[in-house]
Amino acid sequence: MKRALFSVRNPATLEVVSSAVPDCSVQDVNDALMAAEEGFSAWSRETGRAKSRAIRAWHDRIVEEREELARLMVSESGKPLKEARGEMDYACSFLEWFSEEAPRVRGRVDDGVARDRRFVTLRQPAGVAALITPWNFPAAMITRKCGAALAAGCSIVCKPAEDTPLTALALSRLSEGLFPDGVLNMVTTTRPIEVGEALCSSDKVRAVSFTGSTRVGQWLYEKSAGTMKTLGLELGGNAPFVVLEGADVDLAVKCALASKFRNAGQTCVCPDRFIVHESHYDEFVDGLHERMESLRMGNAMADDDVDLGPLINEAAKTRVAALVEQAAKCSIRQTHTDYARHGPNFYPPTIVEIPSSNACSQTQCWTEETFGPIVAVTSYSGSDEDALRFANDDSSGLAGYVVCRDLRRGWRFAEKLQVGMVGVNESIISHAQASFGGIKLSGVGREGADRGIDEFLQDKYICLGSLDF
Ligand code: ADP
Repeated sequence: MKRALFSVRNPATLEVVSSAVPDCSVQDVNDALMAAEEGFSAWSRETGRAKSRAIRAWHDRIVEEREELARLMVSESGKPLKEARGEMDYACSFLEWFSEEAPRVRGRVDDGVARDRRFVTLRQPAGVAALITPWNFPAAMITRKCGAALAAGCSIVCKPAEDTPLTALALSRLSEGLFPDGVLNMVTTTRPIEVGEALCSSDKVRAVSFTGSTRVGQWLYEKSAGTMKTLGLELGGNAPFVVLEGADVDLAVKCALASKFRNAGQTCVCPDRFIVHESHYDEFVDGLHERMESLRMGNAMADDDVDLGPLINEAAKTRVAALVEQAAKCSIRQTHTDYARHGPNFYPPTIVEIPSSNACSQTQCWTEETFGPIVAVTSYSGSDEDALRFANDDSSGLAGYVVCRDLRRGWRFAEKLQVGMVGVNESIISHAQASFGGIKLSGVGREGADRGIDEFLQDKYICLGSLDF
């Protein structure tokens, strides 16, 4: 039977980059799950050292193809080439990290509890893992999840986002021959709901790891209840970025620019709600506006020096434009007024100045994660506690940022901020060694660091008794 295929387009130009991506059905998912079950029985028995070597070999192959993969990523995501190169390094760092963690998975023995018994805890691989990844980091979200799952001894069915399946397929091709058959299965599809349902309802799948929107994460959470899976959910944020009274405003502008416009504002840790002490407000907003002018916008396939690419697709652009239109009562400052000449999915960097904290709750680009190049900003007067209350007034809790001169104040602020990750005088916070994750509606579980492997492992406690000596 002829396989169904789908096309991928460069979001900057809408040119077709590939028209031959397999459009997998539920039957394909079930086949992949069968293969993964077999793969699991072989892979889970490998030693930690053997797992480590295979993951490392995958890493080494990817490093060799870094430039080609970065360019492939640009072609389907539209992100600037320098960001794609950076993402390849970031992606590789997870495989390197988890190749080092694989031999260090170890249980424990409690031998002081009873004279005639020993309590042994094994850490066993959970089973088949379903990994569902987003389009904004087409390589790194795959290696972050695959690295941890493989190091734990799990086999994988991975469903990359339909906007960016090419990087995923290329990564999977580079793994060929390194792992036993059936260990790593890539399922590309335009039918995420059907496929998601099949993965969640299958009792073959024991762990689900998802990065994407809160809406879909909640759906997956519900769908997984029937089979009681372990879940790792990295969902949306609405990150506060707070400039405390006395802060270095130049640093605040630098941090804001570096993280707000990364991937055209399409990362879940991008700052969204800028809360600036009134004594710095004008200097901050003017400074940021000036620096925004210098960003180079364009099609990164044609220009290696682009800083700002398009939004991922038309729906994303329409959504971002609607958020700005809804804020019509606010003062709006845009740069790149000729943005439309670059292509249909471009949107200009935009500052939305919200006149008061009361107005914030009426302004959608404040209450919702923007996922676009929008700086929603307001000022506060009063103490750090006032800023903190304001920052914590949100149902999400992924990342948060605070810029301060006095580190003691910054530290206190960071400890009280209701988020899973905080940048203090720093806005680029994701690293393989760092524990990534959110609280509140931003998800459950952590990725990266030594913790990242936990969602792919399960404890087994064995009580060894009758040791009559
Ligand atoms: P965004 O809105 O930013 O595209 P999504 O949460 O919709 O974020 O997508 C993230 C990933 O989740 C993508 O791989 C997408 O295909 C997938 N996805 C979307 N809906 C579902 C679903 N119902 N079940 C499983 N995966 C889904």
